[in-house]
Amino acid sequence: MNKQELWDKFGKTFRDFDLESGAYKAPGRVNLIGEHTDYNDGFVMPMAIEKEITMLAQLRPDKKVKFYSLDYDQLVEYDLDNLEYDQKNVWANYLLGVIDEIQKLGETLQGFNLMFTGNVPQGSGLSSSAALEVVTALAVTDLHKIKIDGVEMALLAQRAENNFVGVQCGIMDQYISRLGKKDHALLIDCRSNDYKLVPFKNENYQIVICNSKVERGLVDSEYNQRRNECNQAVEFLSEKEDKTIKALRDVDLETVIKYKDQLAENVYKRAHHVVSENARVLASKKALEADDMQKFGDLMYASHESLSKDYEVSCKELDILVKLAAEEEVEGARMTGAGFGGCTVNLVKKSKVVDFVENIKEKYKLETGIDAEVYVSNPGDGARKL
Ligand code: ADP
Ligand code: MG
Repeated sequence: MNKQELWDKFGKTFRDFDLESGAYKAPGRVNLIGEHTDYNDGFVMPMAIEKEITMLAQLRPDKKVKFYSLDYDQLVEYDLDNLEYDQKNVWANYLLGVIDEIQKLGETLQGFNLMFTGNVPQGSGLSSSAALEVVTALAVTDLHKIKIDGVEMALLAQRAENNFVGVQCGIMDQYISRLGKKDHALLIDCRSNDYKLVPFKNENYQIVICNSKVERGLVDSEYNQRRNECNQAVEFLSEKEDKTIKALRDVDLETVIKYKDQLAENVYKRAHHVVSENARVLASKKALEADDMQKFGDLMYASHESLSKDYEVSCKELDILVKLAAEEEVEGARMTGAGFGGCTVNLVKKSKVVDFVENIKEKYKLETGIDAEVYVSNPGDGARKL
């Protein structure tokens, strides 16, 4: 639907109160490099993708909020003075959580109508949830003329997911959805919450995302175990080496290797991944700034190897997708997201994209029996008013 068709639909769904209105967009994201580094106080480098959620919004003269999800064809209604978790319409909680956090800032809201639709694949690790939170935060604050900068808005959206939805995510998804910029990746320091846009503007390359279509099973229990192992490494290294070590962020690779024989094998491997991955993120930033796509691609392959062998969060299908990418001689490929399913991210020469997409789909189907979904994207813009 184009913008006019959306407004027509909005008009048919809601009464027009002739009050402040607007249209807004927020994108999903793919993490280019820096996996399982965020909760170790380290670095990540995602980009916004050209898949987004679009939201239309208008104030109402009362204290009601109504949401219409076009994709689910569901219309729900709540009272601003009584926002509670909705067991029945789970999707609505992403919006309710954001509204709740805005109210917690001490803002008095009046009622409003929201209608939205999106093409960010859901539950595939491309962060449709952050796109939904961020677009809601932008719409509601803009309608009420609430002054809030990009970082504050991203943090507010993160709190909505933590507190209302109940998912303990880090800051990456909401940061990139809010602060992303066309032709740029975003380097985020997950300790200080500082960020820096990194130019990604080589016209000869595109990012291709391959969805393995494997459900991300196991994630919760394995995730907790990895966090635990990282903590064990930090405790050991701060005891043996340096009391100022508070997270794996504070450790270099030489130090990890020095204690190889004293650390349990699994703890050593987890630390080796996190510490080497942080270095790869910083090296990737330099490679992008120097427009050295070969170097960046090599770092992506190395990241996958480390995630698969040392951190052990890949799965057969993700490994197959990366192996097939290497056979197609793409510049770089790695699993992206928490692992055990979800997507790979590939750095592909533009002239090879069509062949790559066709070949990888065919070969993946042959090896696994699964139809992969493939999305081609350049680094897109973050959230904005239309
Ligand atoms: P991810 O963020 O990786 O896509 P999540 O499980 O965190 O996966 O979030 C997906 C959820 O976000 C969906 O189950 C749904 O509740 C909500 N959501 C995302 N996009 C839409 C949409 N276009 N319409 C309605 N709900 C959506
Ligand atoms: Mg999510």
